[in-house]
Amino acid sequence: MRISDIHISPVAVPDPPLLNAAGLHAPYALRLIIEIVSADGLSGWGEIPGSEATRAALHLAAERIIGMDPWQLNRIAATLESLANPDERGATPWDQRTWVHVQSAIEVACYDLMGKSVGRPVVDLLGGAVRERVPFAAYLFYKHEGAGGEFGFGRDESVSGWFGARQEAALDPEGIVAQARAMIAHYGFKSIKLKGGAFEPQVEVESILALREAFGPDVPLRLDPNAIWRVDSAIQAGKQLEGVLEYYEDPVRGQANMATVARAVDIPLATNMCTTAFADLPGSIAHQSEAIILSDHHFWGGFRASLDLARFCAVFGRGMSMHSNSHLGISLAAMAQLAAAVPNLTYDCDTHYPWQDGYDLLVEPLPFEDGAVGLPSAPGLGIEVDRDKLAALRRNYLACGLTERDDEIEMQKVQPGWTFQSTRW
Ligand SMILES: [Mg+2]
Repeated sequence: MRISDIHISPVAVPDPPLLNAAGLHAPYALRLIIEIVSADGLSGWGEIPGSEATRAALHLAAERIIGMDPWQLNRIAATLESLANPDERGATPWDQRTWVHVQSAIEVACYDLMGKSVGRPVVDLLGGAVRERVPFAAYLFYKHEGAGGEFGFGRDESVSGWFGARQEAALDPEGIVAQARAMIAHYGFKSIKLKGGAFEPQVEVESILALREAFGPDVPLRLDPNAIWRVDSAIQAGKQLEGVLEYYEDPVRGQANMATVARAVDIPLATNMCTTAFADLPGSIAHQSEAIILSDHHFWGGFRASLDLARFCAVFGRGMSMHSNSHLGISLAAMAQLAAAVPNLTYDCDTHYPWQDGYDLLVEPLPFEDGAVGLPSAPGLGIEVDRDKLAALRRNYLACGLTERDDEIEMQKVQPGWTFQSTRW
């Protein structure tokens, strides 16, 4: 088998005005879609967060791997490593490294090709499924009114159900509970995550307590302030949430601070910010900075790296969950194939998909039933990309004028002078 061509498509997907520690989501979320075409006419697909820097790196990588065999992942990885420039995760809630994303996009697309060439799903190439359904959590955000994209900050009165509720503002505990009810009614999620870091810690504590009151103790709850709380604030908030949170995600910045909070608060700490690469694992052990690592094949460098991380977690007594950014169905399928193969992925995975639902580029979007995605039976990732929808999302990219994610600039449109602070409260 030989790679004959690679197509790289930047796309922009409508995204509501969601608040987070770094500001406000723009009306469009940027993704990069990669299609690797084999000489025998098969297509393998990958999806990663979009930026001009990543797109340029992906083009450089593509030039070097055309002609290679998609089964030779070690050779492909070595080629990519030889090109990679050192880059940093950054202080934002999202991971800004370029080359781990490139590595992931190419590896996932190669797995899709490999599966299609032998008529087996990707999960079988990862050792086979340990679960047939992958449960996800409701992912709540404080937000302004509006659904993103062409609707901007306005509302479309013609849609109902979750798609109507998705446009509502949620700026206090009551708004968050209403958002949770609408999302859970539509998708059937069994657990809830609240993206924090948008308001003072006490407001976010009150929101979690309101969710507990509304949904009872059988619905696990998580809170993620994206590392912008001080250690004393995080301990004070955490003490109020002992016995309430399933896990407490990145309340503070850095492994040493996380360890301090972990010792003071009786809730497992989770991270997708302080332990995000294999180079961080010695520090994780030395500090005991978290109890749970949130895997993400997009920024750990693909499926095989995520399985390596799972082995680390098993050996060193870490739980494992799964992180997400705004995404489409290619990423959802990849997340489900991977999650189905990881024995110790015992928490419901994160997904932003409800916020992008309706804009997917798949012919048949993967359905959620009772909060879970069933493994598709078709070979590879088990999905088919609708090229007309892909073209429309690509036109959105060209029209919207965004070239990288910058939540600070979006926030300044509603709060002039607002600046990102790596520690705020
Ligand atoms: Mg997080």
